[in-house]
Amino acid sequence: KGPYDYLIVGAGLFGAVFACRMKAAGKKVLVVERRDTRGGNLYCDRIAGINVHSYGAHIFHTSDKEVWDFVNRFAEFNRYTNSPLAYYRGKLYNLPFNMNTFYSLWGVTTPQQACVRIEEQRRAAAVAEPRNLEEQALSLVGRDIYEAFIKGYTEKQWGRPCTELPAFIIKRLPLRFTFDNNYFNDRYQGIPIGGYNVLIDGLLDGIEVRLGMDFFEHRSRLEALADKILYTGSVDRYFDYCFGRLEYRTLRFETEVLECGNYQGNAVVNYTDAAIPYTRIIEHRHFDGSGPESRTVITREYPSEYRDGDEPYYPINDVRNEAMYEKYKMLADADSNTLFGGRLAEYKYYDMHQIVRKALDLSKREL
Ligand code: FAD
Repeated sequence: KGPYDYLIVGAGLFGAVFACRMKAAGKKVLVVERRDTRGGNLYCDRIAGINVHSYGAHIFHTSDKEVWDFVNRFAEFNRYTNSPLAYYRGKLYNLPFNMNTFYSLWGVTTPQQACVRIEEQRRAAAVAEPRNLEEQALSLVGRDIYEAFIKGYTEKQWGRPCTELPAFIIKRLPLRFTFDNNYFNDRYQGIPIGGYNVLIDGLLDGIEVRLGMDFFEHRSRLEALADKILYTGSVDRYFDYCFGRLEYRTLRFETEVLECGNYQGNAVVNYTDAAIPYTRIIEHRHFDGSGPESRTVITREYPSEYRDGDEPYYPINDVRNEAMYEKYKMLADADSNTLFGGRLAEYKYYDMHQIVRKALDLSKREL
């Protein structure tokens, strides 16, 4: 009906991958984005010569070769390996939970000794049916690991005591009985050299993108421009919040330029004490080695209660919100003219590789 085959609402990763595939197949696409930047939450700012992950640390990891090959067509990835540290009561520990962590925590030197410790603590916790997150964690890993690394961090993340959080938030707590600090088990991992903007610019190359344009402020005019819409914004907003507002947790980022070349020696340090109000400090230069020798940029991450106008970061997939989302999903499924995709439209936390996979699959179905 209009000059475009597809109107794509949102220039985040989902919208960018879908736009790229459709354009490659000869379709005419228009992308509208309400922010003044492209890439959604992957967007990187450049501060003091350093690529700064503006919406939180982003590490690409996947075992899906097609996804990996696809993103590597648009950006070269470095060999960054995520090996975060945990700071607890003045000491540093390696994450994820592995032999290095157990050695620092208990002085154990063999996997057998570590297994015995954990089994003793799990038995001492004597939890048959976990009724909350605390009991769930105690039954999985025992008291020492729970108190040092899970309790304070999780309570800051969710803003309530672990005894009041549902057990389902933690399904598994993987324990590794090797001296391996690589956080992800995936085959491929890295950060685009030059930052995520390189990847997004590559995906959106030659595609018309209108920045600073909120779909809802120009809805009827935009709808008339294209045969079909891909919508990657919030699903409750699309349907005028007719069943209520879906809930999220949000984050506040405090970014600082420091007059030293290396502040913490690692990209990610988690702060697991309840008394320290932030959950993580990210030192951006360690993601890709960008930046001068004399300065560095760090970001403290403070989880907080979501209010209207905040960035919706983490969906709260409890029973009430899931039931509300299911109702929105029924409306979305019945709308044959609009496709819904991405973390906001599907009210689900997705890692980047999952977003790429979903957007590739959707474009294949459309073609
Ligand atoms: P978004 O990036 O949110 O894009 C949606 C876009 O739509 C946005 O640009 C938005 O402005 C736009 N939009 C919304 N409404 C409208 C409207 N009405 N009109 C116009 N435009 C609109 N994944 C990993 O794989 N590794 C990580 O290490 C990792 N770390 C993360 C850390 C944090 C703190 C968070 C929150 C997420 C992390 N992720 C990570 C997940 C990653 O951010 C997502 O997979 C990805 O951003 C989802 O892309 P998307 O396109 O669905 O959503």
